[in-house]
Amino acid sequence: MEHIIALTPAKRDCLLDCMAQLTAVAVAQIAEDGRLLHANLGFKRLTRHGQTGAGTQPDMRSFFVNPSFDELLAIHADPGLPIYEGILNVADLNSVCRSLIGTVHHFDGKLMLVAEHDVADMERLNAEVIKLNLELSELQRSLARTNRSLLASEERLKQLSITDPLTSLANRRYLMDFLQQAWQRSQRFASTFSVIMADIDFFKKINDQHGHEQGDVVLKAVAAQMQAMARKVDLVARFGGEEFVIVLQEAPLSAAVEMAQRLRQAVTELRFEPLPQGVTCSYGVAQFATGQSVQDLLKHADEALYESKHAGRNRVTAHR
Ligand code: GH3
Ligand code: MG
Ligand code: MG
Repeated sequence: MEHIIALTPAKRDCLLDCMAQLTAVAVAQIAEDGRLLHANLGFKRLTRHGQTGAGTQPDMRSFFVNPSFDELLAIHADPGLPIYEGILNVADLNSVCRSLIGTVHHFDGKLMLVAEHDVADMERLNAEVIKLNLELSELQRSLARTNRSLLASEERLKQLSITDPLTSLANRRYLMDFLQQAWQRSQRFASTFSVIMADIDFFKKINDQHGHEQGDVVLKAVAAQMQAMARKVDLVARFGGEEFVIVLQEAPLSAAVEMAQRLRQAVTELRFEPLPQGVTCSYGVAQFATGQSVQDLLKHADEALYESKHAGRNRVTAHR
């Protein structure tokens, strides 16, 4: 500012012309009688005064609220120094008050104002933006928490929809999906897989003699035994009441028969309180062959299982 005052009037006018288009900084020259002599865009926007210069020269005395125009004129300062520096409360044409921060110089019978706009508004807005940002980040955190818990619930629901509640094995729905996928893989990669169908022998008798609850205990123990003996890549599912299906990936018939024999042996070794003799299962084993459907494969395993039952139970039959 001091440098502006030090300029020749011609250079000063040239500089004021350069500042004419600035909008965030208000620059104005006001005569001692209050007439607006020069104003840049920033000042016009602030005061809502239209064109200045030639023609009407608005009276700016009422523009200065605190300090007032008269108070400013009464201030004396050393040459080159501003008569005022700091917050200026001003009023526009519509009497809306604003706070500016800037300086006022008094020289050559004019007041020269250079100020930044709406300082208080900006500070308030800034504080508001900071507050909103904090609220936003809290909302985002809470959204992320809700999202995580929704994902967990979704996963839990998905698990429930494919799990048998009594034995915690895969249910029949999941088994059918799994078999369909195994079938598709075998089509694409010319691989094979086998299934073991197992059915607890004389299970109705266990229920009848020892009660349904004891029957459930047996079901759970047999299911757990089968699950414990299966490989990770295989699937053990509850197919129905006391029937189970085990899908053995990449396993030919011979490997599946071996597995069924091991299961058969292990189930006979399970012991239950009121059933000292334990339980047995019958098994039917079938291997997927090209051209078959999933239903064909299950039918073949069921037929083999029927043969095991027919032949006296507690045995393994392979479908040929
Ligand atoms: P088989 O040796 O010919 O298979 O004779 P089984 O008695 O095992 O076969 P059957 O089909 O006659 O009886 C199966 C029984 O399984 C009948 C049904 O009440 C019982 N059952 C089915 N689901 C459950 C269950 O979830 N819990 C209990 N405790 N029993 C069940
Ligand atoms: Mg049975
Ligand atoms: Mg049955």
